[in-house]
Amino acid sequence: TYHHILAAYDGSKAAKKALEHAVAIASIGPNTKLTVAHVLYRPVFDIGSFAYGSSEEYMKQVEQFETSIMEHAREIIAPIPYSRIVVLTGNPVPAILDYAKDNHCDLIVMGSRGLGAIQEWMLGSVSHHVVQKAQVPVLVVK
Ligand code: ATP
Ligand code: MG
Ligand code: MG
Repeated sequence: TYHHILAAYDGSKAAKKALEHAVAIASIGPNTKLTVAHVLYRPVFDIGSFAYGSSEEYMKQVEQFETSIMEHAREIIAPIPYSRIVVLTGNPVPAILDYAKDNHCDLIVMGSRGLGAIQEWMLGSVSHHVVQKAQVPVLVVK
């Protein structure tokens, strides 16, 4: 079993599905820790709206989006006793990799795609780079 699973979560459909798999794996071990990492780094397109009007209106939308995806994550991880959500900042790739390294995570779970508008490639850039650079196994869920 794993000691500490890191689930990278941006609130996308694939990330939610990935989180469900992370929960299934974490529930095998009696003491497996599960951390959900959400990196606050959100290009405008990523929440599916344009930054029209005042930034106040935009920020309100971002806040509502953040609140709802976090509530969803909390519900998904509720069955795991040693689980928590952390909010990181910066570029998602180094944020995820550094967190995994610093906290001795032995599995990273993430979606194949995220909130990006362009769906041309099978892997999004975050999952692509994490798979390439991670020093531990990465489970990519689609
Ligand atoms: P791109 O961002 O390259 O336009 P995309 O948004 O479709 O493409 P990714 O961003 O690579 O795809 O998302 C793949 C997975 O990476 C997500 O399902 C999620 O698990 C993780 N991820 C992406 N962004 C974040 C983030 N800001 N915080 C936490 N995890 C993230
Ligand atoms: Mg993106
Ligand atoms: Mg993305």
